[in-house]
Amino acid sequence: MRISDPQLIGALAALGVEHKAGVSLAEKTSLEIGGTSDLLLVRRHESLPDLIRLLKQAGVPHRFLGGGSNVLLPDGELPWVILQLARQDPEVRIEGNLAFVDCAADLGRTVTTCAKHDLGGMEGLIGVPGTVGGALRMNAGAYGTQIGSFVREVQIYRAATGRIETLRGSEINFEYRHTSFAPDDIMLAVRLELSSKPYREILQGIRICNEKRRASQPLNQKSAGCIFKNPPGGSAGRMIDELGLKGHAAGDARVSDRHANFFVNAGHATSADMLALIADVRQRVRERYGVELEEEVIVWKDS
Ligand SMILES: Cc1cc2nc3c(=O)[nH]c(=O)nc-3n(C[C@H](O)[C@H](O)[C@H](O)COP(=O)(O)OP(=O)(O)OC[C@H]3O[C@@H](n4cnc5c(N)ncnc54)[C@H](O)[C@@H]3O)c2cc1C
Repeated sequence: MRISDPQLIGALAALGVEHKAGVSLAEKTSLEIGGTSDLLLVRRHESLPDLIRLLKQAGVPHRFLGGGSNVLLPDGELPWVILQLARQDPEVRIEGNLAFVDCAADLGRTVTTCAKHDLGGMEGLIGVPGTVGGALRMNAGAYGTQIGSFVREVQIYRAATGRIETLRGSEINFEYRHTSFAPDDIMLAVRLELSSKPYREILQGIRICNEKRRASQPLNQKSAGCIFKNPPGGSAGRMIDELGLKGHAAGDARVSDRHANFFVNAGHATSADMLALIADVRQRVRERYGVELEEEVIVWKDS
C-alpha cells in the first residue's frame, strides 16, 4: 500500500516517523517471499499512539513487522503499510539480574550481551533469528527454554486503549508459540530477570545449542524455521518425514531434506507456492494420522 497524501506524509514527518516508499518486503523476511509496500520506521516509541490514530483516520491499514523470520507475506502490492521499530540505543541495559531490552533488539545479540554480564538461562534461544519483540509475540523457544519464563514486565502500545502501558509478566500468558497479547498490541521494551552464571559456562551452553542447530537445520537456506506447531504429544517434523515428504515441492517451495518441518524457498518461490505446499502437506498428514497441523509461521492474510 502506498501513502501518497501530502498531508499525511507531512504529519508522519512531524511525528519523526521515517516513510520509506515502495520497499521490497522479500528483502526483509528470512523466506525472501513478499511483495512491496510503504514502510514506516518508528524512531520514538512515544509517537506510536499518534501514528496509529493518524493511520486510522486516514483509512490506512497497517501490519507490524519485527525481524521477518516467522512470517509468510503475500506477493504483489501488499494491502497494508508496514510498521517497524527502529533500534534504540542502548538496546540492552543491565541492572543486577535484570536486563532492560528494546524490542527491536536482535534476540541472539541480547543473549550474548547478557552472557557478557554473567547473566544466563537463555542459552537455548541463541540461534532463534529475529527481534526480542517477535520472540515475545511468539513466545519463542528452543531446547527447553522459552522467552516467556524470563519476562517480568513488558512495555506495550496497547491497541485496546490506544496508549503505551506496562504489563507485569504475571498478567501475560505465555504458552507454546502463543501469547495473550492482543493481535494489534505492539511490544516496545521488556524487563527480563536472568540467573547469575559465569560467562564461560553460558558460552559452553551456547556452543552446544549452536552445534545441535547446525546438525539438524538447513541454516544456509531461506526458511521461516518450523512451518507447523507440534501437535500435543507429537512431532510435526517426524510425521512429515515418515510420509517420505522430504524434498517434496510446490514450485520453488520445498520440504527441507534436513528437517521435514522446515519448508525452504529453494529459488524464487512465491507465496502461492509456499501456501500450496503447506496445504498439501497438511492434507497428507490429516489423511494418514488424523491430525490437523496448525501453522507456526504467521501467514499474513487480507482480513
Ligand atoms: C532458521 C530459523 C530457525 C528458527 N528457530 C526457531 C526456534 O528454535 N524457536 C522458535 O520459537 N522460533 C524459531 N524460528 C522462528 C522465528 O525466528 C521466531 O518466531 C522469532 O521469534 C520471530 O521474531 P521476528 O522478530 O523475526 O518476528 P516476525 O517474523 O517479524 O514477526 C512474527 C509475528 O510477531 C509480530 N511481531 C514482531 N515483533 C513484534 C512486536 N515488537 N510487537 C508486536 N508484535 C510483533 C509480527 O507482527 C508477526 O505477527 C526460527 C526461524 C528461522 C528462520
